[in-house]
Amino acid sequence: MPTYKAPLDDIRFVLEDVLDVAQVASLPGYADATPDLLASVLEEAAKLCEEVLQPLNQTGDAEGCHYESGTVRTPRGFREGYAAYCNGGWPAMVAPTEFGGQGLPHIAGVVLDEMLCSSNLSFSMYPLLAHGAVGALERWGDDELKRRFMPKLIDGSWTGTMCLTEPHAGTDLGLLRTRAVPAGDGAYLITGTKIFISAGDHDLADNIIHLVLARLPDAPAGTKGISMFLVPKRLPTEEGVAGSPNGVTCGSIEHKMGIKANATCVMNFENARGWLVGDAHKGMRAMFTMMNGARLGVGMQGLGLAEVSYQNAVAYTRERLQGRAPRGPVAPHADADPIIVHPDVRRMLMTMKASIEGMRALAYWVGILIDVEEHHPDTELRQEAVDLVALMTPVIKAFCTDVGFEITNTALQCFGGHGYIREYGMEQFVRDARIAQIYEGTNGVQAMDLLGRKVPDDNGRLVRRFVGVAERDLTTAGQHAAVQPLAESVRGALQALVRVTGIVMGRAARNPDEIGAAAVDYLRLFGLVATGWMWVRMATVAAAGTSTNPVASSKLATAQFYVTKLLPESHALVQRIEAGSASVMSLDASAF
Ligand SMILES: Cc1cc2nc3c(=O)[nH]c(=O)nc-3n(C[C@H](O)[C@H](O)[C@H](O)COP(=O)(O)OP(=O)(O)OC[C@H]3O[C@@H](n4cnc5c(N)ncnc54)[C@H](O)[C@@H]3O)c2cc1C
Repeated sequence: MPTYKAPLDDIRFVLEDVLDVAQVASLPGYADATPDLLASVLEEAAKLCEEVLQPLNQTGDAEGCHYESGTVRTPRGFREGYAAYCNGGWPAMVAPTEFGGQGLPHIAGVVLDEMLCSSNLSFSMYPLLAHGAVGALERWGDDELKRRFMPKLIDGSWTGTMCLTEPHAGTDLGLLRTRAVPAGDGAYLITGTKIFISAGDHDLADNIIHLVLARLPDAPAGTKGISMFLVPKRLPTEEGVAGSPNGVTCGSIEHKMGIKANATCVMNFENARGWLVGDAHKGMRAMFTMMNGARLGVGMQGLGLAEVSYQNAVAYTRERLQGRAPRGPVAPHADADPIIVHPDVRRMLMTMKASIEGMRALAYWVGILIDVEEHHPDTELRQEAVDLVALMTPVIKAFCTDVGFEITNTALQCFGGHGYIREYGMEQFVRDARIAQIYEGTNGVQAMDLLGRKVPDDNGRLVRRFVGVAERDLTTAGQHAAVQPLAESVRGALQALVRVTGIVMGRAARNPDEIGAAAVDYLRLFGLVATGWMWVRMATVAAAGTSTNPVASSKLATAQFYVTKLLPESHALVQRIEAGSASVMSLDASAF
């Protein structure tokens, strides 16, 4: 049976010693969010995740969701788990205070997401989508919509969904057909079918608020003709409670590879009453607010599952006795040594540890930038944060979920055949992790967003920002003898990234296949370099000897592993990118 202990020491090391989370408390509106307050809030969150949600993870997977007569029932214990989550005030943690939220910084939500995903990914998706809906409504909803819907989403009594996908419209949302016609009283009647809707129906909350993409009668074709509507499962009464049913039904739930305790629903809308969110035909812009938040949240799914898989692999490799250490027995009185002595097992553990801790630092850095972009009084610093968050969103989503999936698989490998057997729980982590590479835009699509959109934006302004801040730290890091060679290696990889960026941009101007052919390798390279930079920052703190955090002592050695064993993958990626699109596209489609 897998276990989970929130890595609070590592979280605090990253937040307090590396990223100076104290800066967040100096932002207007966040004066109370001192490092100590954040730490005590996160300790409480850890208890909920460890004691309430994690014990429901394996049983939820075994039981799955049930579809009965048009309604969905979540696995045993989920209702009580959700009640505990709401009673603790967790849905409100980072929500705006004017609608009943607690107004804590976004970075606290990022850390909470990681813990929720480690403890129970299926469960975490019910509140994750509600949180995304709050963000979209706050930004684009009119006052009336905010007043009627935000307080309920924020206290958790209602949850949310995002309804984009249709059977014939996945990546290409321009194809979607769901219609919206004016009802004559300011509302709209929505008709169409959406598939694969996470948390589309369930029994955890009184009402479900769907944010639905649909076309108005006069809509232009393609993505320029899409609008966003708020469509409740039940129409709220004047008193603000969930009233009569709207024309929204769940047609079925999917039977799928993982996240079995999260209901993935076919949702039918038949003249369902809804309200326009944002401007007509500008629904993609409005939905992107939800999608960008969700993309970072999905990145946390990769990190969270990697962390819990790794923890269980460490515990197992300490106990499982097989073979002898190459340098002679370490447990001579036992029949064999624990497998943690074997260099290949160490390779697996170090790969996981170095990747996870590096990704955590990277993701939390972006989490703090979200607070800076929204709250910093200095316009120039706000704009810098906006640029960096935009650039890093596809990287966090795709890199953390690709690497996260690899780590769940590596952790399973540490268990040998036992990893493949259900009762150990490791195969569930692999199954659960796989979807994160697919939804919220496949990782291929994220890579094209990075290389095709974010990188060329304003002649490379966003990339130059990133290179500028990374270069600054790498120069400072050179002052510590132990860190200097690491900083040099990362600087070399950063320069290679800059070089191939120029090469691809030059070629793309002549050949439209170049971006798509290079994008996935480019994003991986970007993630590796950015994580390497974080390792240099962590190593610098460790080398300075100022941190009293117990995890600091392992940071320099782990940074060395990262730079010498994982970062070299960047050389192969650079070569692949330099090789261009010719061989990728050389065969006619009929040759496959
Ligand atoms: C469990 C689960 C939960 C989900 N939850 C939700 C949800 O809550 N709400 C929602 O709206 N949707 C949801 N989805 C849908 C999900 O977001 C889509 O499956 C995903 O965006 C991909 O769309 P698709 O499946 O139609 O694949 P397709 O778009 O058909 O893509 C197939 C392959 O082709 C590639 N491809 C497609 N177009 C291009 C292109 N232009 N360039 C290069 N490569 C391309 C893709 O990268 C992919 O590898 C969920 C899906 C699953 C399985």
